[in-house]
Amino acid sequence: MNNIIDKIEEANLIGRGGAGFPTARKWRMVKEAEGSPKYVVSNASEGELGLHKDIHILKKYPEMVFKGMVLAMDYIGTKEAYFNFNEKYYLLVKWKIRRLIKKYNKLGYNFTVYQEHPSYIGGEETALLNAIEGKKVQPRSKPPYPVVCGLFCKPTIINNIETFFNVAQVAEGKYEKKRFCCINGPVRKPGVYHVPEDMKLDEVLKSTKNWPKFKFFVQVGGSSSGPVYHYNQLHKQILSGAGSLEVYPATTTPREILTKWFKFYAEESCGKCTPCREGSYQLYELIKKSGAIKWKEIMQIVETMEKTSFCGLGYSIGKPVKSYLKNVLKKKI
Ligand code: SF4
Repeated sequence: MNNIIDKIEEANLIGRGGAGFPTARKWRMVKEAEGSPKYVVSNASEGELGLHKDIHILKKYPEMVFKGMVLAMDYIGTKEAYFNFNEKYYLLVKWKIRRLIKKYNKLGYNFTVYQEHPSYIGGEETALLNAIEGKKVQPRSKPPYPVVCGLFCKPTIINNIETFFNVAQVAEGKYEKKRFCCINGPVRKPGVYHVPEDMKLDEVLKSTKNWPKFKFFVQVGGSSSGPVYHYNQLHKQILSGAGSLEVYPATTTPREILTKWFKFYAEESCGKCTPCREGSYQLYELIKKSGAIKWKEIMQIVETMEKTSFCGLGYSIGKPVKSYLKNVLKKKI
């Protein structure tokens, strides 16, 4: 089996950006779609709280990321790629990136660097395409999906940095079904670890010597949008979403954690749709008020955002809030 797409399929490689879409399926759809030129876009946006694995990969393995992108370009028959960076990341790695771009230019591949102002929505794939095209950084209606109408409405592969890194590993026969995990919080050794993708969360914390000595709960897959689990649930859960594991001491108060989440949503809402724009503002105003937390009002807004928001930012708010209520506070509203 020599073909890269068969190898990726055989490895069962899932995109690492958080949505969990099978990589081989996405690439096949772009190859089969009509339109030219096609594009490959890498996403190193990481606007979600708790994530910093992309910069770790870019610092340590930039050659592997380029290799994965070039494999994607060869597979769909294009020479055009865009390398999207959180602008803070680009400053840290630009010399290595420029050197690699020069190297691949000589081989006929065109890489364009796009630096974005860090934001959550800037990492949403269609908002990212809009940003590169010079349009407002807001998500597009889907369908059409980027695999058929992506950058400049041409078929486009958009993958996270880690996915391209994994593709290069697959091509070299070195893929070990591992993923990067950012461990955050008051633990012994916070940082980025490479762990088996099916490792249970308690094992991740123990094997990295980060199992806390105090009672705690965790948030998995993104520290604003990921689900929350009590420490006695961790033997059943594996790493989900975009690859982070945040540890909170059990003494963290509901007001502290809700303030962190609601502030993030209020600041990151792009303003395109009313449920998220108004809902996130109202949630932050509610939690800033002193006195008892108004759970009923909060949950009404959360439910509305979850059901009627335009994109993943707005509708993801239900996951942390509801799982925190159920798993940590053991409360029904
Ligand atoms: S849910 Fe609506 S307002 Fe919120 S980020 Fe998405 S499009 Fe923008």
